Amino acid sequence: MTSLHWFRSDLRIADNTALWHACRDASTSGGSVVGVYTICPDQWAEHDMAPVKVDLILRTLRELSTDLAELNIPLRILKLPRYADVPASLVSLCRELGARSLYLNKEYELNEVRRDERVAEAIAGQEISFHAFDDQTVVPPGSLRTGEGRWYTVFTPFKKSWIKLLEADGIPEVLPAPKKQAPLDPRAIFDPIPTLVANFDTWPRPELWPAGEKAAISRLSHFIELSINAYKDQRDIPSIDGTSTLSHHLSIGSISPRQCLHAALEANKGKLDGSDKSSAGGAKHWISELVWREFYRHLMVSFPRLSMARAFKPETELLKWRDDPASLNAWQEGRTGLPIVDAAMRSLLHTGWMHNRLRMVVAMYLTKDLLIDWRHGERHFMRHLVDGDLAQNNGGWQWSASTGTDAAPYFRIFNPISQSRKFDSDGTFIRRWVPELAELDNDDIHDPSGLPALLRSTLNYPEPIVDRAIVKDRVLAAFQAIRR
Ligand SMILES: Cc1cc2nc3c(=O)[nH]c(=O)nc-3n(C[C@H](O)[C@H](O)[C@H](O)COP(=O)(O)OP(=O)(O)OC[C@H]3O[C@@H](n4cnc5c(N)ncnc54)[C@H](O)[C@@H]3O)c2cc1C
Repeated sequence: MTSLHWFRSDLRIADNTALWHACRDASTSGGSVVGVYTICPDQWAEHDMAPVKVDLILRTLRELSTDLAELNIPLRILKLPRYADVPASLVSLCRELGARSLYLNKEYELNEVRRDERVAEAIAGQEISFHAFDDQTVVPPGSLRTGEGRWYTVFTPFKKSWIKLLEADGIPEVLPAPKKQAPLDPRAIFDPIPTLVANFDTWPRPELWPAGEKAAISRLSHFIELSINAYKDQRDIPSIDGTSTLSHHLSIGSISPRQCLHAALEANKGKLDGSDKSSAGGAKHWISELVWREFYRHLMVSFPRLSMARAFKPETELLKWRDDPASLNAWQEGRTGLPIVDAAMRSLLHTGWMHNRLRMVVAMYLTKDLLIDWRHGERHFMRHLVDGDLAQNNGGWQWSASTGTDAAPYFRIFNPISQSRKFDSDGTFIRRWVPELAELDNDDIHDPSGLPALLRSTLNYPEPIVDRAIVKDRVLAAFQAIRR
Protein backbone atom coordinates (compact mmCIF):
# COMPACT_ATOMS: atom_id res chain seq x y z
CA MET A 1 0.00 0.00 0.00
CA THR A 2 1.24 3.52 -0.83
CA SER A 3 1.44 6.47 1.59
CA LEU A 4 1.78 10.08 0.53
CA HIS A 5 3.99 12.52 2.46
CA TRP A 6 3.02 16.13 1.74
CA PHE A 7 6.10 18.36 2.10
CA ARG A 8 5.47 22.00 3.02
CA SER A 9 7.80 23.90 5.38
CA ASP A 10 9.74 20.72 6.20
CA LEU A 11 12.02 20.41 3.17
CA ARG A 12 14.44 17.83 4.57
CA ILE A 13 14.68 14.10 5.11
CA ALA A 14 16.52 13.99 8.49
CA ASP A 15 14.51 14.68 11.64
CA ASN A 16 11.32 15.01 9.63
CA THR A 17 8.66 13.65 11.99
CA ALA A 18 5.85 12.91 9.51
CA LEU A 19 8.18 11.53 6.83
CA TRP A 20 9.86 9.29 9.39
CA HIS A 21 6.47 7.89 10.51
CA ALA A 22 5.26 7.47 6.93
CA CYS A 23 8.39 5.46 6.03
CA ARG A 24 8.33 3.39 9.20
CA ASP A 25 4.65 2.51 8.74
CA ALA A 26 5.24 1.70 5.06
CA SER A 27 8.20 -0.56 5.91
CA THR A 28 6.23 -2.53 8.50
CA SER A 29 3.27 -3.02 6.15
CA GLY A 30 5.39 -3.71 3.05
CA GLY A 31 4.16 -0.49 1.41
CA SER A 32 5.89 2.44 -0.27
CA VAL A 33 6.07 6.22 0.18
CA VAL A 34 5.68 8.99 -2.38
CA GLY A 35 6.42 12.65 -1.60
CA VAL A 36 4.43 15.59 -2.95
CA TYR A 37 4.93 19.36 -2.88
CA THR A 38 2.27 21.90 -3.85
CA ILE A 39 3.28 25.14 -5.59
CA CYS A 40 0.49 27.76 -5.32
CA PRO A 41 1.64 30.93 -7.15
CA ASP A 42 -1.50 33.04 -6.63
CA GLN A 43 -1.72 32.20 -2.94
CA TRP A 44 2.01 32.76 -2.46
CA ALA A 45 1.72 36.18 -4.12
CA GLU A 46 -1.22 37.02 -1.88
CA HIS A 47 0.95 36.06 1.11
CA ASP A 48 3.64 38.48 -0.16
CA MET A 49 6.24 35.74 -0.55
CA ALA A 50 9.55 37.17 -1.78
CA PRO A 51 11.12 36.04 -5.09
CA VAL A 52 14.33 35.25 -3.17
CA LYS A 53 12.38 32.85 -0.95
CA VAL A 54 10.63 31.22 -3.93
CA ASP A 55 14.04 30.72 -5.54
CA LEU A 56 15.38 29.15 -2.32
CA ILE A 57 12.39 26.78 -2.17
CA LEU A 58 12.88 25.64 -5.78
CA ARG A 59 16.60 25.02 -5.32
CA THR A 60 15.92 23.20 -2.04
CA LEU A 61 13.30 21.02 -3.76
CA ARG A 62 15.92 20.00 -6.32
CA GLU A 63 18.27 18.85 -3.55
CA LEU A 64 15.42 17.16 -1.73
CA SER A 65 14.24 15.30 -4.82
CA THR A 66 17.75 13.88 -5.35
CA ASP A 67 18.07 12.84 -1.69
CA LEU A 68 14.61 11.25 -1.76
CA ALA A 69 15.40 9.32 -4.95
CA GLU A 70 18.27 7.65 -3.09
CA LEU A 71 15.70 6.40 -0.59
CA ASN A 72 13.44 5.19 -3.43
CA ILE A 73 10.91 7.94 -2.70
CA PRO A 74 9.72 9.83 -5.81
CA LEU A 75 8.80 13.51 -5.39
CA ARG A 76 5.70 14.73 -7.20
CA ILE A 77 4.97 18.41 -7.81
CA LEU A 78 1.44 19.83 -8.05
CA LYS A 79 1.11 23.32 -9.53
CA LEU A 80 -2.18 24.84 -8.40
CA PRO A 81 -3.10 28.51 -8.28
CA ARG A 82 -4.51 28.59 -4.75
CA TYR A 83 -4.92 26.60 -1.54
CA ALA A 84 -8.58 26.09 -2.43
CA ASP A 85 -7.42 23.89 -5.33
CA VAL A 86 -5.31 21.63 -3.11
CA PRO A 87 -7.88 19.19 -1.60
CA ALA A 88 -9.25 17.93 -4.93
CA SER A 89 -5.76 17.62 -6.44
CA LEU A 90 -4.42 15.66 -3.49
CA VAL A 91 -7.41 13.34 -3.64
CA SER A 92 -6.82 12.67 -7.32
CA LEU A 93 -3.09 12.09 -6.75
CA CYS A 94 -3.98 9.59 -3.99
CA ARG A 95 -6.30 7.85 -6.46
CA GLU A 96 -3.63 7.77 -9.17
CA LEU A 97 -1.09 6.26 -6.74
CA GLY A 98 -3.55 4.05 -4.88
CA ALA A 99 -2.44 5.85 -1.67
CA ARG A 100 -4.42 5.00 1.46
CA SER A 101 -2.78 7.44 3.88
CA LEU A 102 -1.56 11.05 3.91
CA TYR A 103 1.21 12.23 6.24
CA LEU A 104 2.13 15.86 6.96
CA ASN A 105 3.80 18.14 9.49
CA LYS A 106 1.42 20.84 10.73
CA GLU A 107 1.62 24.46 9.63
CA TYR A 108 0.08 26.97 12.04
CA GLU A 109 -0.83 30.08 10.02
CA LEU A 110 -4.60 30.55 9.70
CA ASN A 111 -4.92 30.03 5.91
CA GLU A 112 -2.72 26.96 6.13
CA VAL A 113 -4.76 25.55 9.03
CA ARG A 114 -7.99 26.08 7.05
CA ARG A 115 -6.46 24.50 3.93
CA ASP A 116 -5.43 21.45 5.95
CA GLU A 117 -8.90 21.13 7.47
CA ARG A 118 -10.37 21.07 3.93
CA VAL A 119 -7.81 18.45 2.90
CA ALA A 120 -8.58 16.30 5.95
CA GLU A 121 -12.32 16.46 5.10
CA ALA A 122 -11.73 15.65 1.42
CA ILE A 123 -9.59 12.60 2.07
CA ALA A 124 -11.80 11.32 4.89
CA GLY A 125 -14.56 11.03 2.27
CA GLN A 126 -12.25 8.70 0.30
CA GLU A 127 -11.32 6.61 3.33
CA ILE A 128 -7.73 7.78 3.19
CA SER A 129 -6.21 8.15 6.65
CA PHE A 130 -4.79 11.51 7.76
CA HIS A 131 -1.67 11.73 9.98
CA ALA A 132 -0.62 15.21 11.16
CA PHE A 133 2.42 15.84 13.39
CA ASP A 134 3.86 18.76 15.35
CA ASP A 135 7.37 19.23 13.96
CA GLN A 136 8.07 22.94 13.43
CA THR A 137 9.09 23.62 17.03
CA VAL A 138 10.75 21.78 19.90
CA VAL A 139 7.65 22.18 22.10
CA PRO A 140 4.32 22.05 20.18
CA PRO A 141 2.85 25.57 19.85
CA GLY A 142 -0.05 26.21 22.18
CA SER A 143 0.86 23.34 24.49
CA LEU A 144 2.27 25.47 27.33
CA ARG A 145 -0.18 27.20 29.68
CA THR A 146 0.24 29.40 32.74
CA GLY A 147 -0.62 28.09 36.22
CA GLU A 148 -4.15 29.54 35.67
CA GLY A 149 -4.51 27.64 32.41
CA ARG A 150 -4.09 30.75 30.23
CA TRP A 151 -1.97 31.25 27.12
CA TYR A 152 1.44 32.76 27.76
CA THR A 153 1.68 36.31 26.46
CA VAL A 154 5.02 37.30 28.00
CA PHE A 155 8.34 35.85 26.85
CA THR A 156 10.24 35.31 30.13
CA PRO A 157 7.63 33.12 31.88
CA PHE A 158 7.07 31.30 28.58
CA LYS A 159 10.77 30.54 28.36
CA LYS A 160 10.89 29.36 31.98
CA SER A 161 7.98 27.04 31.37
CA TRP A 162 9.56 25.82 28.08
CA ILE A 163 12.79 24.96 29.93
CA LYS A 164 10.94 23.34 32.83
CA LEU A 165 9.00 21.09 30.48
CA LEU A 166 12.11 19.97 28.61
CA GLU A 167 14.02 19.39 31.84
CA ALA A 168 11.16 17.23 33.11
CA ASP A 169 10.33 15.33 29.91
CA GLY A 170 13.73 15.34 28.19
CA ILE A 171 14.70 17.00 24.93
CA PRO A 172 13.05 15.40 21.89
CA GLU A 173 15.55 13.30 19.98
CA VAL A 174 16.67 14.12 16.46
CA LEU A 175 15.14 11.45 14.21
CA PRO A 176 17.44 9.86 11.62
CA ALA A 177 16.75 9.98 7.89
CA PRO A 178 14.29 7.23 6.94
CA LYS A 179 15.61 3.87 5.78
CA LYS A 180 15.81 3.11 2.08
CA GLN A 181 12.41 1.99 0.84
CA ALA A 182 11.63 -1.06 -1.28
CA PRO A 183 12.78 -0.79 -4.93
CA LEU A 184 10.49 1.38 -7.00
CA ASP A 185 8.08 0.34 -9.67
CA PRO A 186 9.89 1.27 -12.93
CA ARG A 187 6.81 3.32 -13.89
CA ALA A 188 7.19 5.61 -10.84
CA ILE A 189 7.10 9.28 -11.82
CA PHE A 190 9.69 11.83 -10.65
CA ASP A 191 8.35 15.27 -11.55
CA PRO A 192 10.87 17.85 -12.75
CA ILE A 193 11.34 20.80 -10.39
CA PRO A 194 10.46 24.09 -12.14
CA THR A 195 13.09 26.81 -12.35
CA LEU A 196 10.52 29.61 -12.12
CA VAL A 197 7.08 30.16 -10.61
CA ALA A 198 4.43 32.37 -12.25
CA ASN A 199 4.09 35.79 -10.51
CA PHE A 200 7.70 35.72 -9.24
CA ASP A 201 10.79 37.26 -10.84
CA THR A 202 14.04 35.34 -11.07
CA TRP A 203 16.28 36.04 -8.06
CA PRO A 204 19.61 37.22 -9.49
CA ARG A 205 21.96 36.20 -6.65
CA PRO A 206 21.23 32.54 -5.68
CA GLU A 207 24.87 32.07 -4.60
CA LEU A 208 24.10 34.14 -1.47
CA TRP A 209 21.79 31.44 -0.12
CA PRO A 210 23.17 27.90 -0.54
CA ALA A 211 20.13 25.60 -0.57
CA GLY A 212 19.28 22.25 0.95
CA GLU A 213 19.77 20.16 4.01
CA LYS A 214 23.52 19.61 3.58
CA ALA A 215 24.15 23.36 3.23
CA ALA A 216 22.06 23.97 6.37
CA ILE A 217 23.94 21.41 8.48
CA SER A 218 27.25 22.72 7.24
CA ARG A 219 26.24 26.29 8.18
CA LEU A 220 25.16 25.08 11.65
CA SER A 221 28.49 23.30 12.21
CA HIS A 222 30.42 26.36 11.04
CA PHE A 223 28.50 28.57 13.47
CA ILE A 224 28.87 26.18 16.41
CA GLU A 225 32.58 25.75 15.76
CA LEU A 226 33.52 29.37 15.12
CA SER A 227 30.91 31.80 16.43
CA ILE A 228 28.54 30.46 19.08
CA ASN A 229 30.82 31.19 22.06
CA ALA A 230 31.18 34.81 20.96
CA TYR A 231 27.47 35.12 20.05
CA LYS A 232 26.55 37.20 23.10
CA ASP A 233 29.15 39.87 22.24
CA GLN A 234 28.95 39.78 18.46
CA ARG A 235 25.29 39.18 17.66
CA ASP A 236 24.46 42.91 17.61
CA ILE A 237 27.25 44.00 15.27
CA PRO A 238 25.88 43.98 11.71
CA SER A 239 29.30 44.20 10.04
CA ILE A 240 30.36 40.89 11.64
CA ASP A 241 29.26 37.40 10.62
CA GLY A 242 28.36 36.79 14.27
CA THR A 243 24.93 35.14 13.99
CA SER A 244 24.03 31.76 12.54
CA THR A 245 22.18 32.97 9.39
CA LEU A 246 20.04 29.85 9.65
CA SER A 247 16.69 31.65 9.62
CA HIS A 248 16.04 30.94 5.92
CA HIS A 249 16.73 27.23 6.47
CA LEU A 250 14.47 27.21 9.54
CA SER A 251 11.68 29.03 7.71
CA ILE A 252 11.42 26.40 4.93
CA GLY A 253 12.51 23.51 7.12
CA SER A 254 15.81 22.53 5.49
CA ILE A 255 16.97 22.26 9.10
CA SER A 256 14.89 21.48 12.20
CA PRO A 257 14.85 23.41 15.49
CA ARG A 258 15.72 20.18 17.29
CA GLN A 259 18.90 19.80 15.21
CA CYS A 260 19.79 23.40 16.16
CA LEU A 261 18.98 22.88 19.83
CA HIS A 262 21.00 19.67 20.16
CA ALA A 263 24.03 21.35 18.53
CA ALA A 264 23.70 24.32 20.91
CA LEU A 265 23.32 22.04 23.92
CA GLU A 266 26.56 20.33 23.03
CA ALA A 267 28.24 23.74 23.04
CA ASN A 268 26.52 24.65 26.33
CA LYS A 269 27.66 21.63 28.36
CA GLY A 270 24.22 20.06 28.01
CA LYS A 271 22.43 22.98 29.68
CA LEU A 272 19.34 24.72 28.30
CA ASP A 273 20.14 27.78 30.37
CA GLY A 274 23.23 28.35 32.49
CA SER A 275 25.59 30.85 33.94
CA ASP A 276 26.78 33.78 31.85
CA LYS A 277 30.15 33.28 33.46
CA SER A 278 30.68 29.97 31.71
CA SER A 279 32.85 30.16 28.59
CA ALA A 280 29.88 28.87 26.62
CA GLY A 281 27.62 31.82 27.61
CA GLY A 282 27.01 32.53 23.91
CA ALA A 283 25.17 29.24 23.46
CA LYS A 284 22.73 30.15 26.22
CA HIS A 285 21.86 33.38 24.40
CA TRP A 286 21.48 31.57 21.09
CA ILE A 287 19.12 29.03 22.67
CA SER A 288 17.10 32.00 23.92
CA GLU A 289 16.65 33.21 20.32
CA LEU A 290 15.40 29.76 19.35
CA VAL A 291 12.87 30.13 22.18
CA TRP A 292 11.75 33.52 20.78
CA ARG A 293 11.00 31.68 17.55
CA GLU A 294 8.90 29.16 19.52
CA PHE A 295 7.18 31.97 21.46
CA TYR A 296 6.03 33.75 18.31
CA ARG A 297 4.65 30.49 16.88
CA HIS A 298 2.90 29.82 20.17
CA LEU A 299 1.33 33.32 20.03
CA MET A 300 0.13 32.79 16.46
CA VAL A 301 -1.63 29.58 17.44
CA SER A 302 -3.08 31.08 20.61
CA PHE A 303 -4.25 34.33 18.97
CA PRO A 304 -5.40 33.67 15.38
CA ARG A 305 -5.99 37.40 14.81
CA LEU A 306 -2.20 37.73 14.45
CA SER A 307 -2.50 35.89 11.11
CA MET A 308 -5.11 38.46 10.02
CA ALA A 309 -2.99 41.63 10.10
CA ARG A 310 -4.56 42.63 13.40
CA ALA A 311 -2.73 44.14 16.36
CA PHE A 312 -2.20 42.01 19.44
CA LYS A 313 -3.33 44.98 21.58
CA PRO A 314 -6.77 45.76 20.09
CA GLU A 315 -6.77 49.35 21.42
CA THR A 316 -3.78 50.17 19.20
CA GLU A 317 -6.05 49.66 16.16
CA LEU A 318 -7.25 53.19 16.98
CA LEU A 319 -3.82 54.72 16.55
CA LYS A 320 -3.73 57.51 13.96
CA TRP A 321 -0.85 56.38 11.75
CA ARG A 322 0.36 58.92 9.20
CA ASP A 323 -0.46 58.47 5.54
CA ASP A 324 2.84 59.47 3.91
CA PRO A 325 3.60 57.47 0.74
CA ALA A 326 6.69 59.58 -0.11
CA SER A 327 8.37 58.82 3.23
CA LEU A 328 7.33 55.16 3.03
CA ASN A 329 8.92 55.00 -0.40
CA ALA A 330 12.12 56.66 0.81
CA TRP A 331 12.31 54.13 3.69
CA GLN A 332 11.74 51.20 1.33
CA GLU A 333 14.46 52.37 -1.06
CA GLY A 334 17.03 53.45 1.55
CA ARG A 335 16.77 57.22 0.91
CA THR A 336 15.73 58.55 4.34
CA GLY A 337 18.89 60.59 4.94
CA LEU A 338 19.62 58.49 8.04
CA PRO A 339 22.69 56.41 7.15
CA ILE A 340 22.16 53.32 9.33
CA VAL A 341 18.52 53.04 8.19
CA ASP A 342 19.45 53.49 4.53
CA ALA A 343 22.33 51.00 4.78
CA ALA A 344 20.00 48.41 6.33
CA MET A 345 17.20 48.93 3.80
CA ARG A 346 19.61 48.74 0.86
CA SER A 347 21.17 45.55 2.27
CA LEU A 348 17.68 44.01 2.39
CA LEU A 349 16.96 44.84 -1.26
CA HIS A 350 20.32 43.51 -2.40
CA THR A 351 20.67 40.35 -0.30
CA GLY A 352 17.13 39.40 0.79
CA TRP A 353 18.21 39.42 4.44
CA MET A 354 18.76 41.91 7.25
CA HIS A 355 20.63 41.66 10.54
CA ASN A 356 18.33 41.41 13.60
CA ARG A 357 19.62 44.61 15.26
CA LEU A 358 18.91 46.50 12.05
CA ARG A 359 15.45 44.96 11.67
CA MET A 360 14.65 46.50 15.04
CA VAL A 361 16.22 49.86 14.14
CA VAL A 362 14.41 50.26 10.80
CA ALA A 363 11.11 48.97 12.20
CA MET A 364 11.26 51.46 15.08
CA TYR A 365 12.20 54.21 12.64
CA LEU A 366 9.21 53.49 10.37
CA THR A 367 6.68 53.16 13.17
CA LYS A 368 7.99 55.78 15.60
CA ASP A 369 10.08 58.35 13.69
CA LEU A 370 7.78 58.31 10.66
CA LEU A 371 4.65 57.15 12.53
CA ILE A 372 3.72 54.89 9.61
CA ASP A 373 1.57 51.79 10.18
CA TRP A 374 3.66 48.68 11.00
CA ARG A 375 1.62 46.67 8.46
CA HIS A 376 3.37 48.54 5.61
CA GLY A 377 6.73 47.52 7.03
CA GLU A 378 5.63 43.95 7.69
CA ARG A 379 4.50 43.61 4.05
CA HIS A 380 7.68 45.14 2.64
CA PHE A 381 9.79 42.74 4.71
CA MET A 382 7.78 39.70 3.57
CA ARG A 383 8.16 40.80 -0.05
CA HIS A 384 11.94 40.92 0.25
CA LEU A 385 13.10 38.51 2.96
CA VAL A 386 14.58 35.11 2.17
CA ASP A 387 13.49 34.04 5.69
CA GLY A 388 10.06 35.76 5.55
CA ASP A 389 7.96 34.04 8.19
CA LEU A 390 4.54 35.25 9.30
CA ALA A 391 4.92 34.49 13.03
CA GLN A 392 8.39 35.98 13.48
CA ASN A 393 7.92 38.90 11.13
CA ASN A 394 4.62 39.84 12.74
CA GLY A 395 6.15 39.38 16.19
CA GLY A 396 9.15 41.57 15.32
CA TRP A 397 6.98 44.30 13.79
CA GLN A 398 4.44 44.38 16.59
CA TRP A 399 7.27 44.42 19.14
CA SER A 400 8.83 47.45 17.43
CA ALA A 401 5.50 49.25 16.94
CA SER A 402 4.48 48.68 20.59
CA THR A 403 1.22 47.09 19.40
CA GLY A 404 2.27 43.55 20.36
CA THR A 405 2.42 41.58 23.55
CA ASP A 406 5.59 41.98 25.60
CA ALA A 407 6.55 44.70 23.10
CA ALA A 408 8.84 47.69 23.46
CA PRO A 409 6.87 50.28 25.55
CA TYR A 410 5.60 53.06 23.28
CA PHE A 411 7.59 55.71 25.14
CA ARG A 412 10.93 53.87 24.71
CA ILE A 413 11.98 55.00 21.26
CA PHE A 414 15.29 53.92 19.75
CA ASN A 415 17.48 56.80 18.69
CA PRO A 416 18.77 55.43 15.36
CA ILE A 417 21.88 57.62 15.48
CA SER A 418 22.87 56.32 18.94
CA GLN A 419 22.15 52.77 17.73
CA SER A 420 24.40 53.43 14.76
CA ARG A 421 27.25 54.79 16.92
CA LYS A 422 26.93 51.85 19.31
CA PHE A 423 26.60 48.92 16.92
CA ASP A 424 28.45 50.18 13.82
CA SER A 425 30.92 52.39 15.64
CA ASP A 426 33.51 52.68 12.88
CA GLY A 427 30.83 52.87 10.17
CA THR A 428 31.97 49.66 8.40
CA PHE A 429 28.40 48.58 7.65
CA ILE A 430 27.30 52.03 6.49
CA ARG A 431 30.34 52.41 4.22
CA ARG A 432 29.53 49.11 2.56
CA TRP A 433 25.93 49.97 1.67
CA VAL A 434 25.99 53.78 1.43
CA PRO A 435 29.15 54.37 -0.59
CA GLU A 436 28.25 58.07 -0.98
CA LEU A 437 29.36 58.47 2.65
CA ALA A 438 32.42 56.20 2.55
CA GLU A 439 34.89 59.07 2.87
CA LEU A 440 33.34 60.57 6.03
CA ASP A 441 35.11 60.05 9.36
CA ASN A 442 33.86 57.65 12.05
CA ASP A 443 31.86 60.38 13.73
CA ASP A 444 30.18 62.22 10.85
CA ILE A 445 29.22 59.04 9.05
CA HIS A 446 26.41 58.36 11.53
CA ASP A 447 24.79 61.77 11.08
CA PRO A 448 25.96 63.79 8.07
CA SER A 449 23.11 66.26 8.59
CA GLY A 450 25.37 68.14 11.04
CA LEU A 451 28.01 68.86 8.37
CA PRO A 452 28.26 72.32 6.74
CA ALA A 453 25.72 72.79 3.94
CA LEU A 454 28.41 73.21 1.30
CA LEU A 455 30.03 69.88 2.19
CA ARG A 456 26.63 68.16 2.37
CA SER A 457 25.82 69.36 -1.13
CA THR A 458 28.84 67.43 -2.50
CA LEU A 459 27.79 64.10 -0.96
CA ASN A 460 24.90 63.23 -3.25
CA TYR A 461 23.08 61.97 -0.15
CA PRO A 462 19.53 63.02 0.87
CA GLU A 463 18.76 65.35 3.76
CA PRO A 464 16.85 63.63 6.63
CA ILE A 465 13.19 63.22 5.69
CA VAL A 466 12.06 63.77 9.27
CA ASP A 467 13.15 66.22 11.94
CA ARG A 468 14.14 64.06 14.95
CA ALA A 469 13.28 66.93 17.31
CA ILE A 470 9.55 66.42 16.70
CA VAL A 471 9.53 62.62 16.73
CA LYS A 472 9.14 61.86 20.42
CA ASP A 473 6.32 64.35 21.07
CA ARG A 474 4.44 63.18 17.98
CA VAL A 475 4.58 59.49 18.97
CA LEU A 476 3.71 60.17 22.59
CA ALA A 477 0.73 62.28 21.53
CA ALA A 478 -0.52 59.54 19.18
CA PHE A 479 -0.30 56.80 21.81
CA GLN A 480 -1.68 59.01 24.58
CA ALA A 481 -4.68 59.86 22.38
CA ILE A 482 -5.72 56.19 22.30
CA ARG A 483 -5.16 55.85 26.06
CA ARG A 484 -7.70 58.63 26.55
C1 LIG B 1 10.90 43.67 12.51
C2 LIG B 1 11.45 42.25 12.54
C3 LIG B 1 11.07 41.35 11.56
C4 LIG B 1 11.56 40.04 11.58
N1 LIG B 1 11.16 39.15 10.59
C5 LIG B 1 11.60 37.88 10.62
C6 LIG B 1 11.19 36.95 9.63
O1 LIG B 1 10.39 37.25 8.73
N2 LIG B 1 11.70 35.69 9.68
C7 LIG B 1 12.59 35.30 10.65
O2 LIG B 1 13.04 34.14 10.64
N3 LIG B 1 12.96 36.15 11.63
C8 LIG B 1 12.51 37.43 11.63
N4 LIG B 1 12.92 38.29 12.61
C9 LIG B 1 13.77 37.79 13.71
C10 LIG B 1 15.29 37.90 13.48
O3 LIG B 1 15.62 39.18 13.02
C11 LIG B 1 15.82 36.86 12.51
O4 LIG B 1 15.34 35.59 12.86
C12 LIG B 1 17.35 36.82 12.57
O5 LIG B 1 17.88 38.05 12.20
C13 LIG B 1 17.85 35.74 11.65
O6 LIG B 1 19.24 35.71 11.64
P1 LIG B 1 20.02 34.44 12.18
O7 LIG B 1 19.46 33.20 11.59
O8 LIG B 1 21.46 34.71 11.98
O9 LIG B 1 19.66 34.48 13.71
P2 LIG B 1 20.40 33.98 15.06
O10 LIG B 1 20.75 35.17 15.80
O11 LIG B 1 21.51 33.05 14.69
O12 LIG B 1 19.26 33.22 15.80
C14 LIG B 1 18.95 31.83 15.55
C15 LIG B 1 17.51 31.65 15.16
O13 LIG B 1 16.66 32.10 16.22
C16 LIG B 1 15.51 32.73 15.67
N5 LIG B 1 15.52 34.14 16.06
C17 LIG B 1 16.60 34.96 16.19
N6 LIG B 1 16.22 36.18 16.60
C18 LIG B 1 14.88 36.15 16.72
C19 LIG B 1 13.89 37.11 17.09
N7 LIG B 1 14.22 38.35 17.44
N8 LIG B 1 12.60 36.73 17.07
C20 LIG B 1 12.24 35.48 16.73
N9 LIG B 1 13.12 34.53 16.37
C21 LIG B 1 14.43 34.85 16.37
C22 LIG B 1 15.62 32.62 14.15
O14 LIG B 1 14.92 31.48 13.73
C23 LIG B 1 17.12 32.48 13.95
O15 LIG B 1 17.47 31.84 12.75
C24 LIG B 1 12.44 39.62 12.62
C25 LIG B 1 12.82 40.54 13.60
C26 LIG B 1 12.33 41.85 13.57
C27 LIG B 1 12.75 42.82 14.63
